[in-house]
Amino acid sequence: MKSFDMIVIGSGSGLEISSEAADRGLSVAVVEHGPFGGTCLNRGCIPSKMLIHSADVMETIQRAGLFGISAQVSAVDWGSIIKRAVGTVDGDAQAVEEGNRRHPKISVFKDTGRFVGDRVLEVGGERITAERIVIAAGSRPRVPDIDGLADVPFITSDEALRLPRQPRRLVILGGGYIAAELAHFFGALGTEVTIVHRGPRLLRQEDDDVAARFTQVYQRRFNLLLNTVVQRAQHHGDEISLEVGTDGRTQALAVDTLLLAVGRVPNTDLLDVAKTGVAVDDRGFVRTDEYLETTVPGIWALGDIVGRYLLKHSANLEAAYVAHNIFNPDNKVAVDYYAMPHAIFASPQVAGVGLTERAAREQGLPYVASVYSYYDTAYGSSIEDKDGFVKALAHRETKEILGCHIIGSEASVLIQEVVNAMRMRLTTDAITQSIYVHPALPEVVQRAFGSLRA
Ligand SMILES: Cc1cc2nc3c(=O)[nH]c(=O)nc-3n(C[C@H](O)[C@H](O)[C@H](O)COP(=O)(O)OP(=O)(O)OC[C@H]3O[C@@H](n4cnc5c(N)ncnc54)[C@H](O)[C@@H]3O)c2cc1C
Repeated sequence: MKSFDMIVIGSGSGLEISSEAADRGLSVAVVEHGPFGGTCLNRGCIPSKMLIHSADVMETIQRAGLFGISAQVSAVDWGSIIKRAVGTVDGDAQAVEEGNRRHPKISVFKDTGRFVGDRVLEVGGERITAERIVIAAGSRPRVPDIDGLADVPFITSDEALRLPRQPRRLVILGGGYIAAELAHFFGALGTEVTIVHRGPRLLRQEDDDVAARFTQVYQRRFNLLLNTVVQRAQHHGDEISLEVGTDGRTQALAVDTLLLAVGRVPNTDLLDVAKTGVAVDDRGFVRTDEYLETTVPGIWALGDIVGRYLLKHSANLEAAYVAHNIFNPDNKVAVDYYAMPHAIFASPQVAGVGLTERAAREQGLPYVASVYSYYDTAYGSSIEDKDGFVKALAHRETKEILGCHIIGSEASVLIQEVVNAMRMRLTTDAITQSIYVHPALPEVVQRAFGSLRA
């Protein structure tokens, strides 16, 4: 059995810790069975946003008439769109792997790791051990239990970002952010998209007003089947047929591609974490304390596999804390998740931070809320954003910023100033008393906070 100072399982956000440990002179084993860089680089944030930019460009051209420009798209070169994204991320993954292999203190194990005993991992026929182990093995798409699905060639987001041919007719199962982003990508580029969602509204984790507006817009853009479940899936030749039920009514859908986007499951089962005594919660996510140490001293966990926020910036934040806490055992610091933002790169974009209005109400907080439309600002009307709005929430007495929720153009960018103010524990004054460039889009954020009335 080979012994190391540290084992890091997963080459996504875990690499931040393995490289720091190796640079400090520790011997480190990095265990990874896929391409280096993890989900974000290979099948998540980065390729999806590269592809979505093509969809955004298409939408800009389609809306050109609104601004007095007559433009027509003569062709969509699907191969180039995919190649731009895949070529970039595959090259980066290769470079990250080579960088790890070159490091004199890092040993790369390119295979599936599985715990077989206390701090002992079996990988590629070898057994390795270390006093310090970091579990950063992420999550994978959930596959729901649907009659007939096992015999149908469905795809998940893993394949959706690398399809060699554009689907003609696509059903997306799901109503969360991955379903929303991929519907925009495929739909804007000409695929006929049907979204099948079991709930009454898309993006149910968003503020209710944002989710309602987003659902309205998607009702305009796509064939949106809400309160609908897939009862049976079948496959004949190139055609996939689905039997779906909505409020007791059944209908048949025939498509060439079925994309499942119904959530993620942690990779703890593949890793068999129970063999080393690491406890998981009822959904299989690794349980940790506030320092991200698991129930076994010396074994740490971070990222999707701990299940707090399944977002890359959250995983990066956690990696920084784990690195600090491992190397400063007498001065451990609890993770500060306050004001964790998120953004959805659909069309319209959505972004949020802090409490939703419903959460503020349920917590019994004395809050004030205000909504301001993009179209009521100079820039919002100049870009013809008629759906967009910003909702601001603050504490009635202290002016603490409780939350902000944005739907509309550049929402992912606009949210940042609110995140910065919240992370610095500033009040609404940080926004209302500042000076905004006129007539730039951030004025809509200032107006939303400026119209809060105690
Ligand atoms: C389509 C899509 C779009 C997304 N867009 C965004 C976005 O815009 N913004 C955002 O913040 N987040 C986004 N995310 C989420 C983000 O990608 C993840 O939250 C983040 O990558 C998680 O990082 P991680 O380090 O926890 O896990 P990962 O990056 O998944 O790393 C885990 C690694 O462990 C490896 N592994 C797992 N089990 C084993 C094993 N037993 N043996 C060996 N290796 C193993 C895996 O191959 C993987 O490389 C998106 C995700 C998807 C799917």
